[in-house]
Amino acid sequence: MSQSSLDLGLPSKAADWNPTRDAALSRLDRFVEAAGNQYARQRNFDFGAGKHAKVSQLSPWIRHRLIQEEEVLAAILDQHNLTTAEKFVQEVFWRGYFKGWLEHRPDVWQYYKHDLMQLFGQLDKDASLARRYDEAVEGRTGLACFDAWVLELTETGYLHNHARMWFASIWTYTLNLPWQLGADFFYRHLVDGDPASNTCSWRWVCGLHTVGKTYLARASNIEKFTAGRFNPVSDLANAAPALEDLRPIHINAPSFASHDLSGRRFGLIITEEDCSLAQLDLPRPAAVLVFSSRTERSLKPLGAIAARFGPLAVKDAMVRTQSGFDGPISEYADENWAEALRDWKNANALEACVTSRLTQGPVQKRLRTACRDADIELIQVTRRYDQLVWPNAKRGFFGLKKKIPAILDGLGLT
Ligand SMILES: Cc1cc2nc3c(=O)[nH]c(=O)nc-3n(C[C@H](O)[C@H](O)[C@H](O)COP(=O)(O)OP(=O)(O)OC[C@H]3O[C@@H](n4cnc5c(N)ncnc54)[C@H](O)[C@@H]3O)c2cc1C
Repeated sequence: MSQSSLDLGLPSKAADWNPTRDAALSRLDRFVEAAGNQYARQRNFDFGAGKHAKVSQLSPWIRHRLIQEEEVLAAILDQHNLTTAEKFVQEVFWRGYFKGWLEHRPDVWQYYKHDLMQLFGQLDKDASLARRYDEAVEGRTGLACFDAWVLELTETGYLHNHARMWFASIWTYTLNLPWQLGADFFYRHLVDGDPASNTCSWRWVCGLHTVGKTYLARASNIEKFTAGRFNPVSDLANAAPALEDLRPIHINAPSFASHDLSGRRFGLIITEEDCSLAQLDLPRPAAVLVFSSRTERSLKPLGAIAARFGPLAVKDAMVRTQSGFDGPISEYADENWAEALRDWKNANALEACVTSRLTQGPVQKRLRTACRDADIELIQVTRRYDQLVWPNAKRGFFGLKKKIPAILDGLGLT
């Protein structure tokens, strides 16, 4: 196939983030062909908003599990061998790696949340910090590439991976702003905003993930990989000293307890964290509850595009559940989840509720608290993919990378 016919024309404007499983499947279908050599050669080029066809742009759907990593890998490996699709396959595994890494270290998420609260307080007191922060998040730094990425992020909910790396490096080392405020800005605006991928990537740029190894954005690299759109020569910091964080990080290996649900009267809960629960291999629930209110990611407001995707993805999950389940399905769009759980539990005489494994982040905190307040047992089922990936995410990515062929085997994908 010629290069131009592989130019998929996948748009990146906000309107194209259609939060349905069908949209994910059709985007995957259009991308599969390009996931081999073309991806390996061109994935690092950022041609700008609306021109991201060299990468899949599947991240918002994968993030909300409208489509599973396993399904993406299966489709890619159906058309390419592992050698040809190696780069793409590895990128997909980076997501599971960061998820597993953070599950091993809940402290890292807690420290980030704590630091953020302090920094928000500092913004109220430190006028110089507040001015520099405002200039950055409003795209008024005068640095053309950075200001353009702010505009693209806030208007489309997406940035190319390379732009995210340059952005985080410039934020930290050229603009001298605290990385946590930048991570928060990303998390609030990215339609794929994810506590693990986002926080760990920012930490990676600053030398906190691979301790001491940082990422320095260079003008020549930006010029090359933006195809000459930007060339911030002599505008960027020329050193990226690693940040230090000496607080203790405890490592807790995630456990995967199996739950015997046979004979138990339980209800199924769908949240924006996993919009394909019908694919979990569970006995039939007595009732289904769908939480379609959005969960705030920060004390600062969510970007409009990111705010819209999750609740609509949950509605799509509800519609799909309706076609295969004849029991009661309740949608709850209000803020008070505990009240909804109490009513639902009583109306359906439930003993427990089940959802897929909740990872570090605000939905986990919210649902756990609500279940406790409503006095209902919460059972979390971990997907097989996560069970295979997370134990290999204890340290560096290399440990997981070595295991990719064995994991693919375990999933029956080779
Ligand atoms: C500072 C920074 C912040 C980031 N924040 C997020 C985030 O909040 N949510 C998020 O999903 N990704 C995040 N990433 C990772 C990556 O940039 C995006 O996953 C990727 O750009 C999404 O575009 P795509 O779907 O076209 O990726 P593709 O290149 O087509 O890759 C396919 C899939 O693999 C996964 N993936 C690819 N690269 C990475 C990576 N480096 N880390 C983790 N998963 C990856 C994604 O699920 C992606 O959809 C961040 C990266 C950086 C440098």
